[in-house]
Amino acid sequence: MDSNFKANVNAVLDLDYGVSIKEANTIQLYNAVSKAAMKSLGKNWSLEANGKKVCYLSAEFLIGRMIYNNLYNMGLLNQFFELMSENNLDIRIFEDIEDAALGNGGLGRLAACFLDSGATLGITLNGYGIRYKYGLFKQYFENGFQMEMPDDWQRFGDPWSVRKEEEKVRIDFKNQSVYAVPYDTPVIGYGDKKVNTLRLWQAEPIESFDFELFNEQKYDKASKNRNEAEAISSLLYPNDSTNQGKKLRLKQEYFFSSATLQDMKRKYKKKYGDDFNRFSAEYAIQLNDTHPVIAIPEFIRLMMEEEGISFAKALRIAKETFAYTNHTVMSEALEKWNATLFKAVVPQVYKYITMIQKALVKELKTFGKVTTEEQKPYLIIDNNTIHMAKLAIYASHSTNGVAQLHTDILKKDALKEWYEIYPERFNNKTNGITQRRWLALANMELSGFITDKIGSSWVTNLDHLKELEKFANDKIVIKQFGDIKRIKKRQLADYIYKKEGIRIDPDFIFDIQVKRLHEYKRQLLNAFSILDIYYGLKEGRITEFNPTVFLFGAKAAPGYYRAKGIIKYINEIAKMIDDDASVKDKLKVVFVSNYNVSYAEKLTPAADISEQISTAGTEASGTGNMKFMLNGAVTLGTYDGANVEIVDQAGEENNYIFGARVEDIEAIKNDYDPMKLYKQHPRIKKVLDTLIDGTFDDGGTGMFQELYESILTGASWHKPDHYYLLLDFLPYCETKLRVNADYSDTFTFRRKCFLNTANAGKFSSDRTIRDYANEIWN
Ligand SMILES: *Cc1c(COP(=O)(O)O)cnc(C)c1O
Repeated sequence: MDSNFKANVNAVLDLDYGVSIKEANTIQLYNAVSKAAMKSLGKNWSLEANGKKVCYLSAEFLIGRMIYNNLYNMGLLNQFFELMSENNLDIRIFEDIEDAALGNGGLGRLAACFLDSGATLGITLNGYGIRYKYGLFKQYFENGFQMEMPDDWQRFGDPWSVRKEEEKVRIDFKNQSVYAVPYDTPVIGYGDKKVNTLRLWQAEPIESFDFELFNEQKYDKASKNRNEAEAISSLLYPNDSTNQGKKLRLKQEYFFSSATLQDMKRKYKKKYGDDFNRFSAEYAIQLNDTHPVIAIPEFIRLMMEEEGISFAKALRIAKETFAYTNHTVMSEALEKWNATLFKAVVPQVYKYITMIQKALVKELKTFGKVTTEEQKPYLIIDNNTIHMAKLAIYASHSTNGVAQLHTDILKKDALKEWYEIYPERFNNKTNGITQRRWLALANMELSGFITDKIGSSWVTNLDHLKELEKFANDKIVIKQFGDIKRIKKRQLADYIYKKEGIRIDPDFIFDIQVKRLHEYKRQLLNAFSILDIYYGLKEGRITEFNPTVFLFGAKAAPGYYRAKGIIKYINEIAKMIDDDASVKDKLKVVFVSNYNVSYAEKLTPAADISEQISTAGTEASGTGNMKFMLNGAVTLGTYDGANVEIVDQAGEENNYIFGARVEDIEAIKNDYDPMKLYKQHPRIKKVLDTLIDGTFDDGGTGMFQELYESILTGASWHKPDHYYLLLDFLPYCETKLRVNADYSDTFTFRRKCFLNTANAGKFSSDRTIRDYANEIWN
């Protein structure tokens, strides 16, 4: 901790802007506080460290706002608060500073939580990715439709990064060469013990403008060249699951993978010379999904072409060094590349994939897979298509799923051929979240309360929350816990009023579903259930109902038409309910705009009910579910992803699980007939018909009709109701009403919430990272 911190802030303000703290605007203050903190870190953080180094390669790092988290981990937060109050400034002043949204959702946020845990545990875990100029688009609504704006996150500067010009490397594509220039951001462990690095690569042209020789043609050429180079790191693809097979996307993947490997190799050689036998003892490389899998053939290429190492040896080192994390079982999301396109972008790498394939086929024979038929499921290159997941499983030593159920599905189903021949390579690492950001910072009230009851050791050992259980029957403690929830609901209501101009009543139940908009996550099922409640109240079918606000937050990929239809539909429902005075004191629906990490930090502490309702077998893990649990909400969810482990830890009786399980769906899927359910159940028919009977207006787009058809007759090559909304509809509504009724018994309900917090220890990313370190990275 730096006792000069406050003085340093004033000094930077004076030096950089010539203003005093009272005269400084928010941006000046932001830059000054950040720089003062960077200054107290000193110069002793770098990628070099003794012992084994883990390189976490990820196309996404969804960091969010860095400043409060860094001050907290450095132990400077209180000095910062003092400085603010001495000058009559609001400590929330930096809430206008942009999030670093260099990720789409769960996968990118996981990478960010892992970095925090690595540094806190004292493990050398450095992140490598892309310094996108524009992060995930910003969302707003116009007439209920999603609109998108570019996310210029560096608008106010990027005071937490340092450009390392001298460490740039050259990246070659078929008809283009660029520099990858690293920007390093410190990853500060809690307690300021260890500082790791997040290294993000920015693409820049090789030739700079030559103003001496200026003439128009040269200028045009140089300018085109510059634009094409910068395009590589200019934007994050806003699709969180499907890969569109875009050339630029492939360039991005190769760009940061090759840059990272060249950097590692250079540092390794400086230390050990040409002997690469120690490489896998020096480095472990974890591939976050398939996006950086191209690093494997690139590694072999670099070893062979630049170091003269044999193919067999290069492949052996690759297998020892690389490990792969799988994040999905959905076939459309398993990354594939057209081989023709691949060869047109990085022909030099393609050759090495064919060599890996040859080695694979040879090995398959030793497993008795001799016929083409037997070999086909394993082929990395098949039918002019390159399968990145297969490449990763074959040429690495570890493939992990991200929740127990997900890993079981990989073994039994999605990757069963591979599990059959390499069972020892498969393992599970259930995801986690960092309690520093998601409890200590996001919920200071609850955090203070917990520390008051059991001490502060939970900050670095979340299992200690279990000690709270001894208060579970203490009416006063449960009451205090409930009072904190009320405070967080009030704060969220104020924030929503400020951001959206919408008033919500903190005495309503807060039922929250926030996550990317995707059919498999079933926001549409939630919408249907709200309509069913609405009609139930109007018809007198539902008589007892605790007033509830249903909150949504989600971005839809700009090209995902159906997802955008769902957003519009929910906004229409919100409007109808607002306009109906007869339900106003019972129901409210709000779709908050631009859901991101900072919004998540406000929403999660305020939830009474956490909606986790994906179709069983589709959500690999989820991490949103863990944030809600930790902050004391009950889960209303399916038996899917990490929900299974959440109820295993906190007790089914303290949560609300409903609907078909993986094996139930497996058993009925060939006979599933949503039309029959629609005709059989008037309540189902009633809500579905709102899509076509003029109840709602989709602005003449035909979106609602398309949603209707997607469920009843199938549309866009999907079978009808692909995600089984109607199958789970009635049990879901029934369970939702049961939670609502249970809410009436305040003590019993809050006790359930309390027991969720007390049993959230397993879901710390500290646990996850410790498991990776022990079982994969050695
Ligand atoms: C945690 C988080 C997610 C992941 O949520 P899931 O419910 O697990 O899909 C997505 N986006 C943001 C901003 C998050 O903080």
